[in-house]
Amino acid sequence: MTFAAARADLAAWKNAFPVDPYDADTPLQSVLARGLPADRLAALATEATSFGRAVVEVIGPAAARHERAGHTPELARWDGLGKRIETVEFDPAYHWAGTATWASGVVTHSGTPGRAYEQATLLYLLSLEGEAGHGCPATCTIGLARALRRRAEPEVRDRFLPPLLERDYAKAERGSQFLTEVQGGSDVGANATVAEPNGDGSYRITGEKWFCSVADAQQFLLTARVPDAPPGTRGLGCFVLPRMLDGAPNGFALRRLKDKLGTRGLASGEIDFERAAAWPIGPVDEGFKTAVGIVLNTSRWMTAVGGAGMMRRAYLEASAYAAHRKAFGRPISGFPAVRRTIAGIHAEWLGALHLVFALTALEDRIDADIASELDVLEHRFLVNATKYAVSIRATEVVRDAIEVLGGNGTIEDFSVLPRLYRDAMVYESWEGTHNVLAAQVLTDLGRLPILSVLEERVGKLLTRSTSPIADELASRWEAAIVDANRAVTDADYGAWNFRDILHQISGLYTCAHLLDDGQPVAAEHLLRTRIAPGVDPGLAERVDALTSHATT
Ligand SMILES: Cc1cc2nc3c(=O)[nH]c(=O)nc-3n(C[C@H](O)[C@H](O)[C@H](O)COP(=O)(O)OP(=O)(O)OC[C@H]3O[C@@H](n4cnc5c(N)ncnc54)[C@H](O)[C@@H]3O)c2cc1C
Repeated sequence: MTFAAARADLAAWKNAFPVDPYDADTPLQSVLARGLPADRLAALATEATSFGRAVVEVIGPAAARHERAGHTPELARWDGLGKRIETVEFDPAYHWAGTATWASGVVTHSGTPGRAYEQATLLYLLSLEGEAGHGCPATCTIGLARALRRRAEPEVRDRFLPPLLERDYAKAERGSQFLTEVQGGSDVGANATVAEPNGDGSYRITGEKWFCSVADAQQFLLTARVPDAPPGTRGLGCFVLPRMLDGAPNGFALRRLKDKLGTRGLASGEIDFERAAAWPIGPVDEGFKTAVGIVLNTSRWMTAVGGAGMMRRAYLEASAYAAHRKAFGRPISGFPAVRRTIAGIHAEWLGALHLVFALTALEDRIDADIASELDVLEHRFLVNATKYAVSIRATEVVRDAIEVLGGNGTIEDFSVLPRLYRDAMVYESWEGTHNVLAAQVLTDLGRLPILSVLEERVGKLLTRSTSPIADELASRWEAAIVDANRAVTDADYGAWNFRDILHQISGLYTCAHLLDDGQPVAAEHLLRTRIAPGVDPGLAERVDALTSHATT
């Protein structure tokens, strides 16, 4: 093969990327069609088509530039005249991507209760580029907007909410969420930042926050300890703090921006607060409930959606590359070992898609205030289990795609994959580490009748399936529920084994949803390769089925 022919193959691979990623994603369309009425689906299809094109044409190239070394955000604490401004400067490309992201409506939808399908679809499309640079600010802004809409007193809501809902990036205010302090992120109850009441409904915040993403936001949401409150999480209030007050930074100083493994386009800083003015979001003695129940749960949902988008991208890159790249005189997609990897990526992406949209359906109903008690219980499990399962899988899947591209897969300007890999690692820890999420699920299973809801709902999906693997899934599901019940009642057993049990429950839950949406091959692949791995006589046939459509 000549050099020119090899380069032409690479160019053909690049050109195989869909110009309209929504139109190309039939599994996504199928999931949406099952969940939405026709008029809402049609309106979303129009938005998603237009935004998907912008992701390819504008956001991809912009993100490739603004998160490159030498183009990442920089601290600007003082202006040229020596006035304190406490701001962050970005490469112009950061704002091109932000303009397109905000114009999509992903944040503006927060003003209307029950628009979770729209927000998840748009964020999934954004995540084809990773683009935590704006995925994180959009997510934080959505969380803050939801908290203000659902929990704040009218005067606080009416002051802070409208600018968050602006579609025009140049006019919009962005939100952030600061819980973590230097003494720990998992143990939020150890927060030592304090909030002193002014007596007029407002508070003064003093302390330091250790991980402050969207450090450039115009509104900070934060947790702080209120006077005479009990220790731990019950003593925390949840506040909104405007960046600027009377034309000057509102009692805060940006100590530094962190130099991170991933999400490098995003400004994550350490911030000191000294008597900064803030207003409570909801009752101050319910601050932790607001921060976790609305804000963190929104971020967990969105982080999982982002992971599913990254997996979709990994599949698109790897499957097209394998079709165009040649080795030993034939396309590498002809090698069983390569095809098997691509089939695994395909099945994992489909599984993540179904898991995050099962969660999105519940988010939609809860936000619209039409969820049943059983929905709320299922959501309580799923929001933590989905973030846990999808963020682990996203890193593994992107790494597998890098393997398909070989050495080229590790090169920063050859494909988006190195950036996705670095970002996926960060997604694993923020909004709750694996252990913390698993521990939360175990605690919830012990306190609430979640297992019986899951048993009933997943059981129903498996019973109505005619797939030959439905019975096997059902018996594994029963065994997993027995194990989960033991973990709940035997603390030692739970502490040692619950991550494995969660792996089983979330995997089987995913398979049940895949079967229900007519994806039996992907369900069986996850069953045989992840849930119950072993030598598998049906592997070749399944891989054929999973790799027969290069880009769907
Ligand atoms: C790039 C980036 C941006 C971030 N931005 C923000 C932000 O904007 N706002 C914000 O509030 N936070 C932010 N975070 C912080 C993030 O939420 C925390 O890193 C996370 O919550 C974990 O806290 P930690 O890092 O202090 O780890 P620790 O809490 O110290 O945990 C360390 C290890 O101990 C384990 N562990 C802790 N407790 C238990 C337990 N009970 N049982 C078993 N294992 C346990 C954890 O799983 C982890 O593996 C950001 C993090 C990153 C990486």
